Amino acid sequence: MFTEDYKQTPYWWEAAPIAERTTQDLPRKKVDVAIIGSGYTGLQAAVQCARAGRSTVVLEAKALGFGASTRNGGQISTSVKFGLETLTKRYGQEIAEGILQEGQSSRDYVEEFIRAEGINCHFNGAGRFDGAHSPRQYDKMVKEVAAGSYLKTDAYLVSKADMPAELGTEAYFGGMVYPRHANLHPALYHQGLLGVARQAGAQIHSHCGVTGLKRQNGGFVLDTAKGPLEATRVILATNGYTGAIAPWQRRRLIPIGSYIIATEELPEALINRLIPTDRNICDSRKLVYYYRRSPDRKRILFGGRVSLQESDPSVSGPRLHREMVRIFPELSATKISHSWTGLVGYTFDTLMHAGQDDGLFYAMGYCGSGVGMSSYMGMRIGQQAVDDPRGMTAFNKIPFPTRPFYQGNPWFLAPSVMAYRLWDRTGL
Ligand SMILES: Cc1cc2nc3c(=O)[nH]c(=O)nc-3n(C[C@H](O)[C@H](O)[C@H](O)COP(=O)(O)OP(=O)(O)OC[C@H]3O[C@@H](n4cnc5c(N)ncnc54)[C@H](O)[C@@H]3O)c2cc1C
Repeated sequence: MFTEDYKQTPYWWEAAPIAERTTQDLPRKKVDVAIIGSGYTGLQAAVQCARAGRSTVVLEAKALGFGASTRNGGQISTSVKFGLETLTKRYGQEIAEGILQEGQSSRDYVEEFIRAEGINCHFNGAGRFDGAHSPRQYDKMVKEVAAGSYLKTDAYLVSKADMPAELGTEAYFGGMVYPRHANLHPALYHQGLLGVARQAGAQIHSHCGVTGLKRQNGGFVLDTAKGPLEATRVILATNGYTGAIAPWQRRRLIPIGSYIIATEELPEALINRLIPTDRNICDSRKLVYYYRRSPDRKRILFGGRVSLQESDPSVSGPRLHREMVRIFPELSATKISHSWTGLVGYTFDTLMHAGQDDGLFYAMGYCGSGVGMSSYMGMRIGQQAVDDPRGMTAFNKIPFPTRPFYQGNPWFLAPSVMAYRLWDRTGL
């Protein structure tokens, strides 16, 4: 099942290791902005703050990029999981349209940023294919396209007969293509972004966890692994890894593990038959499987949620393998070279959020669709922290809900995963 050189670290770290340990001391003088977390949100915010001339320090508890930003599937969507009708019912038409527009903008922003900064991270606008896992789900897709709800993204249907051009599997009853979706190599993108943030003048510290955050003298004092740091403003960019320093946000975030495997290198003819395109692939289940070819087109990267409780990659790996073989029986003897996990930040309303409380800014809750959106929201929250009016987003205008007695420990996850699993089996 596993290759001899199998690793429990992301496949992505082979091309972009995250081993760097910074040695610089923290500034003694009060800085303008301290950013907690060195993923896409934190680094994009740092670029904005530093370019606006603010002294900017990024503090990361582990290695730089340790969180989801170097572990994800690299799939770029328009990130918002609801349509106009649902959002309008919740927030009214103006905010609903604003939210959908942010989703479109996030996808375009990340492409534009990568091009403008010359980051070589295999950005590929190949689109996404969603497979219908039951005839009923395909019928639903037909109705959605007929109702025009996907017109803005130019989504189109693929019938079962046309499936071989999309995927070499009998597992789906047709599907839908979203041509505007894209993908990239997440750790190379992170590495490039780190360089841009440093070039802009941000000081970036690895292995410098923030253990305390207090208000003092019209600003903040942060207790860190390298001693105290004073800052006028703070940006929380900790998403699924948000801990005790931010109790208000922690009560609103649901950390959920997502799991991925990479296969060993496959024969060219086989991989081209199973996955003939560079698209991202998802399915219509509630417990979605997401997969794609590696950028060099030699491996399959296959991800999803395969356990009720959080589990070890040595346990999730074989379970993901079983699901992959269910879709592609030819891969039954294929070995796993990498199996890893990371935390996504879910929210109770399945939307991302941004805001501030007297100098304490935050952007988070990307619900597993954060490659484009965390980049975009990081950029926007950075602008907000330097009082640039362009930073305001529709997500600043909606409430960030929690639930009574919830303190950040999602005890309800196992029963929810079980319920979704049963639901998916019905094909409804
Ligand atoms: C397995 C997996 C697959 C995914 N696949 C996709 C995908 O295909 N497409 C997509 O759009 N999204 C995907 N996502 C989600 C996406 O990766 C995230 O939404 C995005 O990377 C969030 O970026 P971030 O910077 O906000 O948070 P992160 O990258 O998670 O960074 C948060 C950082 O904060 C640090 N931190 C926390 N507390 C402290 C502290 N007290 N002091 C200092 N540092 C601290 C953490 O160590 C961490 O490095 C996936 C996520 C996972 C885990």
